[in-house]
Amino acid sequence: MRCIKCKAPANVEVRRHRSAFCAGCYPDWFRTQVQRTIDDHRMFSRDDRVLVAISGGKDSLALWHALLRLGYQTDGMYIRLGIGDYSVRSQAKSEAFAARHGLQLHQVDLAADHGFTIPQMRNQREGKPCAACGTVKRYHFNKVAVDLGYSVVATGHNLDDEAATLFGNVLHWQTDFLGRQGPVLESTHSNLARKVKPLYRLAERDSAAYAIIERIDYIVEECPMAIGAKSLAYKDTLNALEETQPGLKYQFLVGFLRQGRKALKTEDPVQIRQCAKCGQPTTAEVCAYCRMVERRLKKLPVRR
Ligand code: SF4
Ligand SMILES: [Zn+2]
Ligand SMILES: [Zn+2]
Repeated sequence: MRCIKCKAPANVEVRRHRSAFCAGCYPDWFRTQVQRTIDDHRMFSRDDRVLVAISGGKDSLALWHALLRLGYQTDGMYIRLGIGDYSVRSQAKSEAFAARHGLQLHQVDLAADHGFTIPQMRNQREGKPCAACGTVKRYHFNKVAVDLGYSVVATGHNLDDEAATLFGNVLHWQTDFLGRQGPVLESTHSNLARKVKPLYRLAERDSAAYAIIERIDYIVEECPMAIGAKSLAYKDTLNALEETQPGLKYQFLVGFLRQGRKALKTEDPVQIRQCAKCGQPTTAEVCAYCRMVERRLKKLPVRR
């Protein structure tokens, strides 16, 4: 197989595009895809300050690296979730990347600053804290972006993540979530940052190849809390289909965004107000984060 750009032996195959690239040409192709996605959806410009949500994994670090090379103004943000050794190692990778490139990495420490860790937020029924973790991430990324004046929060969600989320929402006919799923979540309140996903058309293996070729040192292991998660089962199912039908994941997601989503979008935007406790935007009197933390802290032993 030959590189479609320079005809040298190829190192990376992108089957859904019927393309292959050598290690020299691949990073440019990857960055061009990111740039196209940003342009197609008018995600942000070079005048905007972008806050990149960093986990220490391949997707968020590949995104930060690509945005840097494309000339965008970016800072990173990492949340110390308190998930044992996994958190220790992912924090170290995130800090090392920021230091190597001379970038600013904001951090929130849940245990030290807020008195709880993610494993303490396990859902009794499912035994997993992932729903709580999602609420915590959305809350703190938004709060830091608004407090520090960033125009937009960029996350490393990729094609596999987004197709798996879509698959799960379709299986359970979560029409509310389906209507809101997309690469751009507009701000509908002055305290609500815009959210964008510049990698949503690139697969997990595309970011892994980019990270390896660009020598980005990322945490390879998955979060231990992900074991047995439904999202992984959805990814496995889609991967099995993709194996025999290259491009299927892309068609599923992009086809939905182009054709299916508009039918599910609600006309009336939900009324956003400020949380009575913390002032963050919410649709209820007290936001989901404050309610969740208050509920759980009552059950935790008092810290001395
Ligand atoms: S797997 Fe669950 S707990 Fe771990 S980082 Fe992801 S959402 Fe959070
Ligand atoms: Zn080449
Ligand atoms: Zn609140």
